[in-house]
Amino acid sequence: MDFHCHLDLYPNAREVYKEACRRNAFTWLVTTSPKAFEATSRILGSSSNVLITPGLHPEIAHERFGELDLLLKQIATVRAVGEVGLDGSSRFRATYEVQHKVFSAVVARCEELGGRTLSIHSRQAVTYVLAELSMHPRFGTAVLHWFSGTAAELKAADAQGCWFSVGPAMFNSKSGRALAARLPRDRVVPESDGPFAQLGGKPIMPWSMPETARYLAEAWSVPIDNAMHVLENNSLRLLDLMQLS
Ligand code: MN
Repeated sequence: MDFHCHLDLYPNAREVYKEACRRNAFTWLVTTSPKAFEATSRILGSSSNVLITPGLHPEIAHERFGELDLLLKQIATVRAVGEVGLDGSSRFRATYEVQHKVFSAVVARCEELGGRTLSIHSRQAVTYVLAELSMHPRFGTAVLHWFSGTAAELKAADAQGCWFSVGPAMFNSKSGRALAARLPRDRVVPESDGPFAQLGGKPIMPWSMPETARYLAEAWSVPIDNAMHVLENNSLRLLDLMQLS
């Protein structure tokens, strides 16, 4: 299973897609723009175990703002949305205004349509993401991907019922490992975030769940089998919430 993957952006996307279909019961392919969603849906096509969703990544929100209306239309046709979110890091602070317009419109739209599951980017913007979600209490289900906030922000996100998608790259840093130890264990699912996320100079692949389980087992001080079972069990519950099982 993989709940956050940019499968369309691997150099050999068709092969990775085939392999993901063979090895994974479920792969969530998040796109970064509405037009990329259209192109990827056309070229790769959804299958019963690869879900392709429309998004508008906060890092390119200012370049693709013109596609917001298209995104809002696409959301009516899907069960899940991503990648969307906010990025408050210094590199993207200048575009925060437009990022916020996009994210706010997306969350409101999800609520209007009766709820969607969102794969959310929240780098240095967790508080703002949570504030936006709480303004639209019926938006659906939030899956915070590669969470990198503070311990207090993690607590707040947990209290709001957020899920967390976690991949091997999170364990590259000491702070990532410390956060992993504190995740609510009943709301953690695996992700790769490949090909952006890398380990040892190589992109992480969509079938990296056993690696994630190994790292989590260490963070939680439990046997690997136990961590694997937790990830599997959580994944099935989230798919159920997404009405995909
Ligand atoms: Mn991503």
